[in-house]
Amino acid sequence: MSKEYIEKVRVFALGGVGEIGKNMYVVEVNDDILVVDAGLMFPDDDMLGVDIVIPDVSYLVENAERVQGIFLTHGHEDHIGGLSYVLKKVNVPVYGTKLTLGLVEEKLKEAGIFRHTTLHLIDANSRLTVGSTQVSFFRTNHSIPDSVGICFETSQGAVVHTGDFKFDQTPVDGKQADIGKMAAIGERGVLCLLSDSTNAERLERRNQKQRLVKGFQKCLKKQKGESL
Ligand SMILES: [Zn+2]
Repeated sequence: MSKEYIEKVRVFALGGVGEIGKNMYVVEVNDDILVVDAGLMFPDDDMLGVDIVIPDVSYLVENAERVQGIFLTHGHEDHIGGLSYVLKKVNVPVYGTKLTLGLVEEKLKEAGIFRHTTLHLIDANSRLTVGSTQVSFFRTNHSIPDSVGICFETSQGAVVHTGDFKFDQTPVDGKQADIGKMAAIGERGVLCLLSDSTNAERLERRNQKQRLVKGFQKCLKKQKGESL
């Protein structure tokens, strides 16, 4: 992608860094504010009387006319759970895949704002121009189907957000992560890669299915002599 001038690019988090939950990241390209995810966090034990914790969106409220949209990576609560609260403060279009928007729809109905919200259905092959920024997506694997990574093209290279992901050779829905597309984005040049990770410091190579098998074996051992 070639642009005649160098765009001013800023990337920062409004939540989700150094904590588990309330994921929300901002990619600013010149005047366009592009938001990734709007999650919630469940309160700690010492937050008495608090039901949920959401990101501080005062920056978005102050700059509401520049916010082009909220892009959702997947349908987990820590990525969409704060959306209805955020939309009540800043009513902007929301972009997400079929399953993600299906989950969002219920939340918006519950909050009474479904009719006032613009939802844009995207899939891993969608390419959009939002504001003056090109946005594309790539399929990832995660513990919830229909997860995508997001790629914002800028004159300085792509800003890529992977969301939560794993590489799963045998995904339950049969749709593998689009590694070829990721490689192509890499070849074009990435200015900034944002990647969600929980417990990345823990060395564990076993996959979830192996863990399930071990769990079942443990249960069966305990139940020796009894029929299940
Ligand atoms: Zn997740």
